[in-house]
Parts: sequence; structure tokens; C-alpha cells
Amino acid sequence: MSVHSFIREDIQALTAYPIANIPKDFIKLDAMEVPYTFPETLQQELAQRLSQTEINRYPNPANSGLIEALRETFSIPLDAQIALGNGSDELIQLITQLVAKPNANMLCIEPSFVMYRHNAALFGLNYIGLPLHEDFTLNIEAVLQAIEQHRPALTFIAYPNNPTGVRFQREQIEQIIEKSSGLVVVDEAYGAFNDDSFMNLAGQYENLIVMRTLSKIGFAGLRIGYAAGHVMVMNELAKIIPPYNMNQLSLEAARFALEHIDVVHQHIDLLKNERERMNQNLAQIHGITVFPSKANFITIRLPDAETAFNQLYEQRILVKKLHGSHALLHDCLRLTLGTPEQNNAVLEVLKTHCQNQQKNHLPATSKTSKKWIAIIAAIVVLAALLILLYLNNLQHI
Ligand SMILES: *Cc1c(COP(=O)(O)O)cnc(C)c1O
Repeated sequence: MSVHSFIREDIQALTAYPIANIPKDFIKLDAMEVPYTFPETLQQELAQRLSQTEINRYPNPANSGLIEALRETFSIPLDAQIALGNGSDELIQLITQLVAKPNANMLCIEPSFVMYRHNAALFGLNYIGLPLHEDFTLNIEAVLQAIEQHRPALTFIAYPNNPTGVRFQREQIEQIIEKSSGLVVVDEAYGAFNDDSFMNLAGQYENLIVMRTLSKIGFAGLRIGYAAGHVMVMNELAKIIPPYNMNQLSLEAARFALEHIDVVHQHIDLLKNERERMNQNLAQIHGITVFPSKANFITIRLPDAETAFNQLYEQRILVKKLHGSHALLHDCLRLTLGTPEQNNAVLEVLKTHCQNQQKNHLPATSKTSKKWIAIIAAIVVLAALLILLYLNNLQHI
């Protein structure tokens, strides 16, 4: 018997999370990375610090100083307990494991961050995905009703949401927390670009965990995520966090980053300005719908996302093609905000794309009629083949 047959069938059926492999000279706007790095002098200083890090020793996240630095920098309440994860991805996994009893339910809205569902599948939770409205706002009645009906052990809400960029109403999230007896994780991966947060409530509600990451503010490579919550829950979570999940170099680099949070804030401000500018410019392009974003990306709908994606790619720009990943995301692209020059390059391609779309303006049915022509052609070919086959058989009789 092959080893393969011992591997869980549901895992065999999965596909690995795709990480884009693109040449260095590409403009990479697919994964909400910050286009800016520390200036040369700070890089030198960081190199010096890292060279002195005790990589011969196991890391001790609890007394690395990072937890205190996070609390101080991001105003995390004193009565909230903080857990560190190797990226918030790891925390999503651990929190899921924490409640993964048989028949436990996970509630999410759709479309949202794909790792929630992935972890539900991995740890055997029933996944309940409730669709958003067409404009990507929350269908709060459906959510509250589902909480009552399914009593989810765990609810994930990204605030603002990924991949849509839309921020739900604060009161709606509060209702969800109040109504749930299970854990509610408010995932604030994009919190730095938002002007609202649930962090001030962390530690107060037994069922609330507020999760954040350094990834989307310029340090995706460090893999530092953190979660703040009630002492009781976080003490249980602490039992399943692998003892050495954080590495010495990342802990040191993260502390360094927080010491220079002013530089980080400058980058965030640049991106927020770009968000405004891009928002206006995109909205002026005929044929593009812009969804209001509170994150460092903008999700748009255009006449033909597939073609637009390819045209951007030909210009060596990689964005995220959302089209095809969820029915509500038809003809959507997600544009991570880059430098002004990078963003202008995106605008140029999209302008040309939309102008061309208008020029060869075919009637609205063109796509469907093309599809029908293809289907009829296929039927004709098939019929011809069958006739040939039939005639061929006749000869043999
Ligand atoms: C990017 C992202 C994460 C993962 O962040 P890491 O800390 O890099 O693992 C979590 N949640 C949402 C909504 C994200 O968009």
C-alpha cells in the first residue's frame, strides 16, 4: 500500500496556497505589501542589532520585550492578554484548534479572508459562510439569525474586510459580539489604515479576540501577528501555542520596527493619501466601479477583469484577480496600493483598457452570444463526429 493512501483524503483534495512567482522587476501589487522599506541608515542599524541577536538560544517571546512594545505602541488595554503568532495566519489556525470540538460551527461572511474556511476544513469545524450584500456591506439580519440558529463556536470578521476593502458598521460588529456566546475574532489586519478599532474593548468581553499583524504595515517578511483578548481565553490559547513559534531574528527586528514607528506611520500616511487619489482617479474612469476601502488596497469592478488582469500583467504589473473566486466578486480586481509611480502605471493600463472596451463596444449580450456560438459550434462538431463514427461502423457490418 502506498504512503499516499495514509494521507487524509480531504487534504489530498486541497490545493496549496498559491504564492506568486514573478521576476524581480515586476510591480507587485497582489498581496498588500508596503512598497517602502526603512532608509539606508536604519537598515544599517537593524543589521547591527540582528548581528548581535543570540541565535544560538531558543527565543522567549514572553520576555522578548515585544509584547510590552506592542501594548505601548498600539494602545492595547492593560487587562487584555496578548499572544504572538508566526503571522496572524498561525493565530487563525490556533484559535480554530482551540474550539475544534466535534460538530463545532465556524461562522464567516463571504467573500472574506480564505484562511478562515481553510482552517475550518483542516480542523473539522462545520463552515457556515454567509454572503454579503452586492455592495459588500453586511447582511446583519442574516448574520444574527445564523448566530442564533447555529451557535457558532467561532466567528471571524475582518474589519475592514479582505478582499473587498469595505469596513462594516461598528454597531453591527458590536451586535455580533453581544449576540454570540462563542468566540468572535475581529481581524484588524488592515487596522492601521482604518480610523476605527475594537482594540479598546479587548480584555473586556470574554468572547472577543482582536487580531492584528505587522505584515500589512511594512513587515510581511517578519511573520509577526498578535492577538489580544480576555485573560481566561488567552490562557487556554497559550497552552497550544508551540513554545518556540516566534524566531529570535523576527522578534528583534519587530522591536526595532516599533522603535521607529514614526517612519512606519509616514509610510502609512503616504498610502492613505494614495488611497484617496486612486479612489478619485479610478472613479473617473468610465466603466469602473470602485468599492470604498479602508485598507491599503482598492477593489474595483470593470467590464472585463480577466482581460484587464492580463493587460496589467503584460505591463509587468501583478494585481489580484478576484474574478472567479466568488460569485459576488465577478469582474473584480484587487489593487494593492503602491508608490505613486506604481499606482499611476496601474491607472494608465486601466484607462486604456476601459477606452478600448468602449471602442469595441459590443452590445451587452456579446459575451453571452459568443458563448452560444461556441456551444453550437461544439455541438455541430460532435454531431459530425458521431455521424462519421456511425458510417464507419456501417462499413464494418
Ligand atoms: C493578510 C491577512 C492576514 C494574515 O496576515 P499575516 O500576519 O501575514 O499572517 C490575516 N487576516 C487578513 C484579513 C489578512 O488580509
